[in-house]
Amino acid sequence: MTDVLTDIWDRILSHLKRNHSEFWRGWFQDLGPVNLENGVLRITVPDHSRQQYLKQMCNSSIVAAAQQETGYLVSVEYVLSNEPELIVPLRPLPKKISNTMGESLFFSPDYTFENFVVGPSNRLSHATCVAVSEALGKAYNPLFVHGSVGLGKTHLMQATCQTALKRDANLNIKYMSCETFVNDFMRAVEEGNLYDFRYTYRHSDMLVIDDIQFLSERERSQEEFFHTFNTLYQAGKQIILSADCPPSEIPHLEDRLVSRFSQGLVTRIDKPCYETRMAIVRKKALMRGIDLPEDVISFIARKVENNTRELEGALTKVYGMAMLDSGDITLELARQALGEEPRTPLYQVTVSQIIDAVTGQFNVRLSDLQGKRRNRSIAFPRQMCMFLARDLTNHSLEEIGGHFGGRDHTTVMHACRTIDKLRQNDDKTKMILENLVATLTRR
Ligand code: ADP
Ligand code: MG
Repeated sequence: MTDVLTDIWDRILSHLKRNHSEFWRGWFQDLGPVNLENGVLRITVPDHSRQQYLKQMCNSSIVAAAQQETGYLVSVEYVLSNEPELIVPLRPLPKKISNTMGESLFFSPDYTFENFVVGPSNRLSHATCVAVSEALGKAYNPLFVHGSVGLGKTHLMQATCQTALKRDANLNIKYMSCETFVNDFMRAVEEGNLYDFRYTYRHSDMLVIDDIQFLSERERSQEEFFHTFNTLYQAGKQIILSADCPPSEIPHLEDRLVSRFSQGLVTRIDKPCYETRMAIVRKKALMRGIDLPEDVISFIARKVENNTRELEGALTKVYGMAMLDSGDITLELARQALGEEPRTPLYQVTVSQIIDAVTGQFNVRLSDLQGKRRNRSIAFPRQMCMFLARDLTNHSLEEIGGHFGGRDHTTVMHACRTIDKLRQNDDKTKMILENLVATLTRR
């Protein structure tokens, strides 16, 4: 590899990192240029799913970056590092069958088990998917995963498929949205080639259909799916389905389908708790090669509660804004990026004012708050101070910890959580807090 080529590639990479936070991933650093000949820049990629990701999600931006950095009209090719001839083995279909039928969606390299954060909200669903990927058709069949939008159903299903494929690259997996199934079916009916349709769907080793609630009210598709299901099930093939609700709650779904869908294992994904959200933000940042300070992670996790997809969106926004600016990601910048008013001008509260207010309220001294003692009569006011400092000042968690005897950010986070819970469950704490906030923010 020539130095010139390496140099061009490095410049393309930093261009992409700077301008495309939406698709930039840490693994881009491991891609390497092969050559630049006859107007084609060849890049090696380690596997098929990353190759698809680059082609489908990033190609036009990579080409634009390559043209800008080389000054030539170049195109870009992504060559599998182990298969330079670019042969993607696909099982040949019988001649007649249209090759768009039953077309699987491509698997995202992001959606692996390694990239999935396990927490109380998704532990069972995760474990069953892992088990299924290790013993197709044997562990749980069918597996039905449900939960509201953005909680990780598609991620888990793709991780299951990709893991199964790693164990056996020749598996014939049909993975698609229910909409594709329904559209394929309707087209087959119109064109009179139900035979081909059935052949395609019923000769797979594993059928994975995302958002099966789409079958609701589609009577003929339900009928067809019932037979597809039975054929595969009886042949011991794995079936995985996802939906936004349990089988019995899918409106207008035939009873016989409800009972088929429920006869294996039905698992639910719930909204992730605060700790899981923190871990997800941390994981997503790592995947994108972004260094995020703890207080920004905790800020994003507090700000976005209901939908994991939005957590990622928030991270993209914060990172995008940092890239437009100095490149540094700070709590203040995160607040701005996520549309929060800067707090300082509103309150201008200092940590010593907080300490004064809290020591006035409870029978403790500053030296107690900064000291090591952990009995409740001292720990509680100390936690109160930390909570107020987090909410009313712009100090980072580290800085807040520093004011209270050099405690670290995890202690501050724990304090904030404790007070937050108490505030919700205990009226007395709630009242004390409200009074303190009112005193501190009074102008
Ligand atoms: P659904 O299919 O349930 O609507 P997705 O699987 O599309 O949700 O997930 C939305 C986003 O949230 C994806 O980017 C996914 O990677 C991410 N996500 C959800 N749960 C987790 C988790 N536990 N760990 C890591 N990422 C997650
Ligand atoms: Mg989905």
